[in-house]
Amino acid sequence: MLWWVSRTGSYSSEILRKISSVGVTEEPSLIAEADIRRFARWIAAGEVAAPRSNTNATKSRSEFVSPDRKRPTPLMLAMSGLGLYGRVLSIRAVAERLAYVIGDSLDDFCLSYCLPRIGHQTVWLPVKWVSHLGSTEATLLRSCAMSALYARPYRAAQNPSLKVCSTSVQQETLDAVLGVLRARFSPGPNVEPIDVLSADALVALATGAPVPYCIDSPNQPEIHPFLGLESVGAIRSPRPTGFSKLSASTHRWVAELNIVGCAIPAVPHVAEHLVKLPQNGGTYTTRVSQHALAYTCPSGFVIGDDINANLQNPTIQIFDTFTAVSIIADANGYESQLSDKGIYQRDSLQKLGGSAEAARLFRDNASRAFLTKYLDHTDRPKGAYDEGCVLHGDKRAYLDLVAAKKTMGGNETAAIELLDKLVAAKVLYRGFALGCAVCKHAEWYSLSALADQFRCTRCGREQTIRHEHWKHPAAPQVFYKLDEIIYQFLKSDGDVVALGLDYMTRNSQLPFKYSPEIKFKNAGSQFSGEVDLCAVWDGELIIGEAKKQGELAPTLSEVQKIVKKYVHLANMLNARRVVFCTSSPEWKSSTIEAISTAFRGRNAAPRFLVAADLLGKPSS
Ligand SMILES: [Zn+2]
Repeated sequence: MLWWVSRTGSYSSEILRKISSVGVTEEPSLIAEADIRRFARWIAAGEVAAPRSNTNATKSRSEFVSPDRKRPTPLMLAMSGLGLYGRVLSIRAVAERLAYVIGDSLDDFCLSYCLPRIGHQTVWLPVKWVSHLGSTEATLLRSCAMSALYARPYRAAQNPSLKVCSTSVQQETLDAVLGVLRARFSPGPNVEPIDVLSADALVALATGAPVPYCIDSPNQPEIHPFLGLESVGAIRSPRPTGFSKLSASTHRWVAELNIVGCAIPAVPHVAEHLVKLPQNGGTYTTRVSQHALAYTCPSGFVIGDDINANLQNPTIQIFDTFTAVSIIADANGYESQLSDKGIYQRDSLQKLGGSAEAARLFRDNASRAFLTKYLDHTDRPKGAYDEGCVLHGDKRAYLDLVAAKKTMGGNETAAIELLDKLVAAKVLYRGFALGCAVCKHAEWYSLSALADQFRCTRCGREQTIRHEHWKHPAAPQVFYKLDEIIYQFLKSDGDVVALGLDYMTRNSQLPFKYSPEIKFKNAGSQFSGEVDLCAVWDGELIIGEAKKQGELAPTLSEVQKIVKKYVHLANMLNARRVVFCTSSPEWKSSTIEAISTAFRGRNAAPRFLVAADLLGKPSS
């Protein structure tokens, strides 16, 4: 009975009396036993029978005609002005998903009842029904179960295996049940007939369910001025158009706001800080729905019936990853701030023209080798003039054109082009490496600080530049200094961060947003930890680590400590993915094992990205 009710929206005589009183009549259609098959197909999979042609109709056929969803029913009449909206591809994908939830518990029923609402069709099969499948007697239940089993709509049947899930049935019983199903259901040779999935797996598959919206409202863009991240004044709340009059005391709806190019993760406490209503009820009135800001209309305290007086117009704050993460952290008692590395990341990526431009530079073998050479502080062999030089004053490497050409595989044109480009971006500075004739101190002097003289930074003697001040070649050679912030950025594996950010941007269906490295501190529990990556990737909050070497740390205990930190922070922030990026060919197996073990059974799933992902040529 529950099955029918959940599927058909069956109602009580009380409801029938009420809807009759407003002039909506009921048209009962009796289901004969011969019709069970068609009836089951309709309630299990929403399949609508083709209208029978009159010429073929015979008295022996029964009367049940499954109602067409497209034809108005009392419910649809009441909700006039609503339409289901979703991406074309996702609507198709939803049609391809069908699972059988087996079991007698309330959990099983609820799972099968709720899954279709988030994008996964289900058929609920009580265990008793399945056992009837095994009997040879032609009972009504057997017929029902058989019909339900074969009720898979055309698109779902494209996948030959039967998806089965149960939250309550014990393994032993389940094996018996699956045995019955296997015997009854044969999708063809060489196909495993049953595919057993966990409830979590089904929920993960259920994405992109079409959502009912007021007709045409999703297609109405509005242009509103913003100053910085804040809307200028309040935004007009959208209102349903399907009613002749809106009444503040009886009408309730949810307004959604989507800012172009901005996806918002559905984590607690974010929406209430982004939607500022005159009467803010916290997460009760504002939330993040499918990547949009959502709030209830009209306000919670309705006075009178006039909708205009009761309709709240919110001011909007544009989502920004750092601010949002700080809000979530704050709600959990953590302070957050950009770390030193975060500031290097922010300024470096800005200088390099954004994460995509930076990643292009690091993906290219020649320019990556050139920039990495600046981290090489080993003493150059005597007489080697194509390796750049390391000055002991500041312990930094300086490269000239010859060294640049060598690191870039001998391509002088490419080297000149890159040097020019990086000088223009103020990533490199031109200057001379000069040694003091008095105190022998060698130092790099910017071209902008030089004339014919230079003043030694150690002994302060002013000297006219002569050949004795440099070693090689005949004329003074221009040496390129790497900007100190970029140097710190590269030293702290910022290149891997840029490559990781770019990979996620390229592989994101929804707008991608990130924050430079954040440091979290909890004074109470003495916790302090940093995350290299913090971003909204495909509408999910992710955190992560970036390392040049494919290991988190040299010793296992240090690895455990880092992994523990990420588990802790992922929990605290409600992050759904923890991404570990390396520009090495692979992560060490001990690191992968430590991470996988620590995240088993948790909300956040670890994801490993390696050189093939980060350095591989983008497909588009
Ligand atoms: Zn000197």
